Amino acid sequence: MKSRRKLAILGGEPAFAEPLHVGRPNVGDRARLMARLNDMLERRWLTNYGPYVQELERRIRDMLGVRHCIAMCNATIALEIVIRALQLKGEVLVPSFTFIATAHALQWQEITPVFCDIDPRTHTVDPGRIEAMITPRTTGIIGVHTWGRPCDVAALTEIARRRDLRLIFDAAHAFGCTHAGRHIGNFGDAEVFSFHATKFFNAFEGGAVVTNDDELAAKIRLMKNFGFSGYDKVIYIGTNGKMSEASAAMALTSLESLDSFIETNRENHACYARALAELPGLTLLSYDGAERSNYQYVVVEVDEERAGLSRDALLEVLHAENVIARRYFYPGCHRMEPYRSYFPHAGLLLPETEAVARRVLVLPTGTSVRPDDISMIASILSDAIANPAARRSTALVQA
Ligand SMILES: *Cc1c(COP(=O)(O)O)cnc(C)c1O
Repeated sequence: MKSRRKLAILGGEPAFAEPLHVGRPNVGDRARLMARLNDMLERRWLTNYGPYVQELERRIRDMLGVRHCIAMCNATIALEIVIRALQLKGEVLVPSFTFIATAHALQWQEITPVFCDIDPRTHTVDPGRIEAMITPRTTGIIGVHTWGRPCDVAALTEIARRRDLRLIFDAAHAFGCTHAGRHIGNFGDAEVFSFHATKFFNAFEGGAVVTNDDELAAKIRLMKNFGFSGYDKVIYIGTNGKMSEASAAMALTSLESLDSFIETNRENHACYARALAELPGLTLLSYDGAERSNYQYVVVEVDEERAGLSRDALLEVLHAENVIARRYFYPGCHRMEPYRSYFPHAGLLLPETEAVARRVLVLPTGTSVRPDDISMIASILSDAIANPAARRSTALVQA
């Protein structure tokens, strides 16, 4: 790749006039969305299990081949409700390499998240390390399908069964993905999706619990609606986890564009793979071609020795060009509050989490990113790696 221009970090003009963000929302057919919102206003049924929420639940059930789908206001509340409905208490095993909501959903109800290390190849929880962390207080495991790549479902299911633990999957990244040919949503006691604006499939804010357990589904339905079983009748403690009709209208519209969103993400990922192939020290995480994936994340691991620059230096180079790449899930939940104060030495048991959190750089994709943008991003990275001045200047900025 030829050097193209002066890097912005060395005083050049930024490559992009408008910032290119990781997680910029995908928007489906606007006319369809507006028509739905208009119908919703005509009906004056804005929330409380309206027709759009019911339609969304039915369509997700059919798509995933799962018995129950309960749409919710977001994935964090959905996780909290599943955790509570399964009566988890004491300690629950979770990876630290995840979005903070996975841990907070436990701690919010005074359950201790016990952080388990990941397999550096998969970035998902290492089942080989789970068993050693089970104590008499352990009641469950939450696996996370990081980047939409399923965690080791078979091994976790076996451990949960043998040790009599409940098993939840945080599938916030994994809508539309499969494992062993079956849709994510069919595993463990329940799985939780996020339809937040930054996820490739969005409902503005939203989420869903899917499960094949009838009794659990009935309980979750009550809990997400204050425990109401009918007018004036409350039979359970509950909270407000309902999805609004406006969110369901957005989700239904997103659902109609699901295949095209995935196709764009897949093409973008392939484009990055070609453009980054020759760059020393950058490894693009791949998706299993035999499974369905949503290609929602473009994840690069930076080997500082080979690239000659650290991940953080490259991040700085990109930000100066208006490419708002991100570090994920840096620095790891165990280094954030309150966990950092509760478990100041947790890092000793999480060497792979700490190493991966230092290497990962997530690049922009989605429907607002075009092949030309990807070529430009690759050429920025290439220039930075090739340019000793860029290395020095980021090192200075960092110091
Ligand atoms: C986004 C995300 C969540 C939270 O989802 P919300 O819908 O924003 O509450 C939970 N876990 C993971 C892994 C996520 O990426």
